[in-house]
Amino acid sequence: MQKDRIAIIGGGAGGIMAALFAKNSSNQVDIYEKNQALGKKISISGNGRCNIFNANLKREDFFGEDLSFLEFALREYDFSKFRRFCEDLGLFLKVEKDGKVYPLSNQAKSVLAIFDRALKERDVNIFLSNEVLKVEQKEGIFEVVSKDKKAFYDKILIACGGKSAPNLGGGESGYEIAKKFGHKISPLYPALVQLETKIDKVLVGIKTKAKVSIMDKEYRGISFTNDLLFTKYGLSGFGILDISPYVSKALLSKESVILSLNLLPDFERSFLEDKFLKISKKYPKREVVQLLVGFLPLQIAKFLVSKLKLEKKTLQDTGVKTIKQIVATLLDLRFEVKNTHGFKYAEVCGGGVDVSMVDRKIFESKLVKNLFFAGEVLDITGKRGGYNLAFAFISGYLSGKAMATRDKF
Ligand SMILES: Cc1cc2nc3c(=O)[nH]c(=O)nc-3n(C[C@H](O)[C@H](O)[C@H](O)COP(=O)(O)OP(=O)(O)OC[C@H]3O[C@@H](n4cnc5c(N)ncnc54)[C@H](O)[C@@H]3O)c2cc1C
Repeated sequence: MQKDRIAIIGGGAGGIMAALFAKNSSNQVDIYEKNQALGKKISISGNGRCNIFNANLKREDFFGEDLSFLEFALREYDFSKFRRFCEDLGLFLKVEKDGKVYPLSNQAKSVLAIFDRALKERDVNIFLSNEVLKVEQKEGIFEVVSKDKKAFYDKILIACGGKSAPNLGGGESGYEIAKKFGHKISPLYPALVQLETKIDKVLVGIKTKAKVSIMDKEYRGISFTNDLLFTKYGLSGFGILDISPYVSKALLSKESVILSLNLLPDFERSFLEDKFLKISKKYPKREVVQLLVGFLPLQIAKFLVSKLKLEKKTLQDTGVKTIKQIVATLLDLRFEVKNTHGFKYAEVCGGGVDVSMVDRKIFESKLVKNLFFAGEVLDITGKRGGYNLAFAFISGYLSGKAMATRDKF
């Protein structure tokens, strides 16, 4: 009997995992990767440490049109199974705060070294620098045309990733292949990305803690408290990356989104008003900036004073009304965001292959038999914290296993 031939398009986390589970002694598994090496995103992820998984995966940690799609997958392949699989390969992991999982070595390189070795040990064929240009199906057989090859397969897996980070392999070919086979693509948007807005020169380069909230009816109550960095183009920092999927999605249908920054998230309004009034009374000759600099970086203090046109004022000139105005501004400083910093800088791509036409247990297309999907190409996007690699590995596991066995779960 002829061996089952399986093509995996994309050698990232999803493709690698799928290949490891798809390969058995009675099939042939070929990975096509357009980069010169596998797993470029793995190699730089988590600032080179690779936040490889999250130990507390929940459906609410993801974005997408239909998150119920995830329920089976998250139940079926949780962290304990992933950990066992990694340890079996010889890769040891550690869990840090918020459930973030890293390789014990603290090096993304070690993850790749072990996965690469495991693929070779299982005789998976790896075709590097080999971009797939076209996939067609004739009489149930897939023809895969790549830069250097033309070959025929019984099953294919689209694991091309998303549109984000084009320098690391991001692009649209996964969506294009899916579209050719009749799949719908939910609108794409950059996620886990910096946001562009007008920033006063004085603020550029300043880092502070802030609570950032999105002032949009649809996303009422969404806010994150974390580091915030003012940059030349706008806002960066963990809180901004965390809120960016909501902003970016809103920008698909709106010209701009308003963000509110609370620059002193650890204090109550009444406490600040009271403290500011007391200080004003005690030090009436001080300038307003000297009141603020006890709480905030000097540049932010200067910016607020200038914004409120209080540069020349001393504390004896500021009554209750002005104090309340200062506090109100620093607890609710607004910025209009018209753009994200774009796919080039985004860690992930929101949107993607509509999951309603994908089997949630085996990740096979409901439209085309033997066509499978894994990873970021699907309309499932994780929050920051190891969720995106986790989804790529989980979907790689389920699709890979299914391609090997074709058993329905
Ligand atoms: C800077 C950065 C840091 C990140 N850090 C983390 C982190 O710490 N934790 C986390 O969970 N997530 C992180 N992510 C997100 C995570 O890396 C991705 O979500 C994940 O790698 C997606 O896996 P994937 O296999 O679906 O796609 P990818 O890893 O993008 O792999 C797809 C592969 O397919 C190849 N390809 C595309 N089209 C073709 C084609 N036509 N022919 C052949 N090959 C093709 C690409 O070159 C690529 O190698 C980070 C992303 C970036 C950009």
